[in-house]
Amino acid sequence: MLYEDMKLAFIGTGYVGLVTGACMAELGHHVVCADIDKKKIAKIKKGVMPIYELGLEELVEKNVKEGRLTFTASIADAMKSAEVVFSAVGTPEDKKTGKADMQYVHAVAEAFGKNLNSYKILVNKSTVPVGTADAVRDIITHVSKGGHEFDVVSNPEFLREGAAIKDFLNPDRVVVGVSSDRAKEIMEKIYRPIARAGRPVMVTDIRSAELIKYASNAFLAVKITFANEMANFCELAGANIKEVAKGMGADSRIGSRFLYAGIGYGGSCFPKDVQALMETGKEHGFDFSIIKAADKVNDAQKLRPIQMLKKQYKSLKGKTVGIWGLSFKPRTDDVREAPARYIIEELLRAGAKVKAFDPVAMESFKLSFPDKRVKYVESAYDAVEDADALVVCTEWDEFRTVEYPELASRMKARVIIDGRNIFERREAEKEGFTYFGIGV
Ligand code: NAD
Repeated sequence: MLYEDMKLAFIGTGYVGLVTGACMAELGHHVVCADIDKKKIAKIKKGVMPIYELGLEELVEKNVKEGRLTFTASIADAMKSAEVVFSAVGTPEDKKTGKADMQYVHAVAEAFGKNLNSYKILVNKSTVPVGTADAVRDIITHVSKGGHEFDVVSNPEFLREGAAIKDFLNPDRVVVGVSSDRAKEIMEKIYRPIARAGRPVMVTDIRSAELIKYASNAFLAVKITFANEMANFCELAGANIKEVAKGMGADSRIGSRFLYAGIGYGGSCFPKDVQALMETGKEHGFDFSIIKAADKVNDAQKLRPIQMLKKQYKSLKGKTVGIWGLSFKPRTDDVREAPARYIIEELLRAGAKVKAFDPVAMESFKLSFPDKRVKYVESAYDAVEDADALVVCTEWDEFRTVEYPELASRMKARVIIDGRNIFERREAEKEGFTYFGIGV
């Protein structure tokens, strides 16, 4: 062993907790992953992953077999046995206030305080508003007995679903916010394998670490939205956003990533983090005008396919629309805030019939959108059977290899609304399709 391994607990075994816990075990640490959802833990123990993430099942299986990774539904046991406890519970949007719902983070802080049996660190891995570490520290102080010392650390997570394992093991940076040298040393020890691989581990004050996460997500949301708004203008100005974005992205000050125009961002992070940052701003008497504008543009962007359909058909009543893609992006089954949901809702409201296909996200979509009117089908081609239009909502690779003649033979009308610009207008039109893209 090149370094000293540590005993870690991950509380919350969702996307972040399960992936980062398994990756920490892969780095050599001894990890216990805990969750209040007993069914989830029972499933994982049987080797069934609760989420779709490339390589995760193999990583979990390997580390369980090698004795570094265990799972439990007892939060107390996990906490008592660990030197460092990572909190990776959800911080969803409170739909009434727009703020991050902190009840799960606070519950973990309380459990940590009650189970404190020696010096330990509580690491906030969840995305939490600036100032949370102070609130967490107060909760722990209030409930803990026995006078054991502790530290609270902020260690936001930047992994992307669909590339989560690679992102965690090869991060652009690790951000660690600390308020003591003791915590700094321990956190550096935990991340030493990552630092040895040449990846920067940046140690900051706690509030800056908390804000780095929100600032990064808000910046990316604004960047995508900028490309989307420019795409909308391209349509009027007769320019092509693919060319414009390529030209912009070649400038190293801008960079080419996150400039792909489409029907808006969704997912479990950007929408809620943008809202939460605006609300935190308000609490400080601050108005994030750029972020507010991006949020507004993004809401409208999600419904651009509906505008396009209405351009094609006076009424959508009785029309059949095939939907390709239900997850908010490819390579994940996460459907939280996916544009597809908003489009389907609007189509049903307008009296259209919806046939939907997604390679992995149909089950999770059904759970979060239990509307019997949506017909789920077995393949992309089945979704366009007798359809008056196809709407591409997610850029899954398998949609890119579509055979136009097959599509044409299945559809009632040759209309493609390409919400992710995966087709070429020229090719589609050559095959007799009416083609709508985003800024192309
Ligand atoms: P998730 O909803 O997939 O998982 C959260 C888990 O926490 C659930 O399994 C839930 O049962 C469990 N939980 C809730 N309360 C608990 C408690 N008191 N004790 C133990 N377990 C409890 O959420 P996620 O997507 O993994 O996100 C977690 C955090 O990480 C959020 O703050 C999110 O913003 C942030 N984040 C997410 C991503 C991502 O791509 N999903 C990326 C970076 C950061």
